[in-house]
Amino acid sequence: MMSPRNKSRSITPACPNSNRRGTQNVSAPQVRPQEHCDKRHTHLPVRPWRLLVTLLPLLLHLLSDSNPLHAQRLSALAPPPTWEALEPFQETITRNDFVRLLDEVYAPGGAASEFIALSEREAAIKKTLSPESSWVLRFARDAVSARPTTRPWRSISELSPADPTHPLEGVRIAIDPGHLGGTWARMEERWFQMETTPPITEGDMTLLVAKHLAPLLKNMGAIVTMARSDTQPVTPMRPKDFRSQAKTQLAERNIFDPRETYHGPDDPYRGGSIQAESELLFYRVSEIRHRAEFVNGTARPDLVLCLHFNAEGWGDPNRPQLVDSSHLHTLINGCYSAGELRHDDLRCDMLSRLLSRAIEEEIPANEHIAAALAEAASLPPYEYPGTNARRVGDGMHVWARNLLANRLYQAPVAFLEPYVMNNAAFCERAQAGDYEGLRTIAGTARPSVFREYAQAVAEGLRRLAIKRRPLQPTVPK
Ligand SMILES: [Zn+2]
Repeated sequence: MMSPRNKSRSITPACPNSNRRGTQNVSAPQVRPQEHCDKRHTHLPVRPWRLLVTLLPLLLHLLSDSNPLHAQRLSALAPPPTWEALEPFQETITRNDFVRLLDEVYAPGGAASEFIALSEREAAIKKTLSPESSWVLRFARDAVSARPTTRPWRSISELSPADPTHPLEGVRIAIDPGHLGGTWARMEERWFQMETTPPITEGDMTLLVAKHLAPLLKNMGAIVTMARSDTQPVTPMRPKDFRSQAKTQLAERNIFDPRETYHGPDDPYRGGSIQAESELLFYRVSEIRHRAEFVNGTARPDLVLCLHFNAEGWGDPNRPQLVDSSHLHTLINGCYSAGELRHDDLRCDMLSRLLSRAIEEEIPANEHIAAALAEAASLPPYEYPGTNARRVGDGMHVWARNLLANRLYQAPVAFLEPYVMNNAAFCERAQAGDYEGLRTIAGTARPSVFREYAQAVAEGLRRLAIKRRPLQPTVPK
């Protein structure tokens, strides 16, 4: 779920170093141009052209890519992007495919036009905006001569034939149960409670689904890793570690004299406080970046499943507003805005995802999982009201949207948003807890909602594998 209470409040990506570095460029070098001059000129005044010639190498260095003072604009807690990592994608994509993916999925509405200069043979993508520098992608002449794409994950269709009873044999799947839950649930605004009933906390529910899902996938032969197995953060950092970055983030939003703390979830000044901003950097940015480090570095999956529950705005978490609506959608990475693409790391991340062709796996995986979830839970498709998401694929449930958690994983991602947590019927099911078999809730016999979710995801992946993976012929007995 994406911030039900304060949809407008989010981490504003920023470059914490850009201003400081800009001034360093001028004042840091201690240059004494006369030091190596002919002694005859020692007492002569310094001529402007001579000063310029002496300073030229230094100026060129300051403007070069290798210079650490080179101006970069980075999103929150982002390391500098490694454009060299895109070199293996040279000549792997035709111009037509590149433009189509940009227009239809990654940067619709010309969002990237300011940052990508297209010619017939290549695309020059801005690495930095000020001063400008570019990375050049050479297109393949045609689909036949395109070089194969190298990537750390394998398509399910290119795996060796599987026994139909173990259609996920050898498929590496990472499960990322969204959010934290436990004692962090209130801080991360994934908590609400009606009177004395048990609180509903998204991070605990996603973990419960993950614990049901993992054995179902393993039983089909998958190699499963969990991005987290309990309610403790993966990041070793805590909100107090982000005070200075929080001040920088707030200054980016023109909040120069922020409050230290806030008083409860209804404090109207919460969003402008150092405490709230530090918390966001902890649970929304640092935590996701650390999960991605683990998944990309250790798990190296063929598919990442990000488990979430959706919600409508519920207002006061102690007197939540319940709704009748219920829906389902799933997300792949895409639909970057021009504002997001002003960050150097986001342009590099977008190119990395586009060129990896993760979308060729993501669309069928998301469509199969969504179809199974819609069937099991009778959930209609969700409609995004704004322009920050775009429907993709042939069905109604899959959308492209740029989130940190579907951008950083170096593998195809299915980011799942079924159910509405503050739907009245869902609340009853969630509060009934986890149980075996069926129970009658609101007049209908239903399985535990956590098992229903897990079984539908496993069933979607089973159908995907049966359809796309070569299967071993059955030996007649
Ligand atoms: Zn969520």
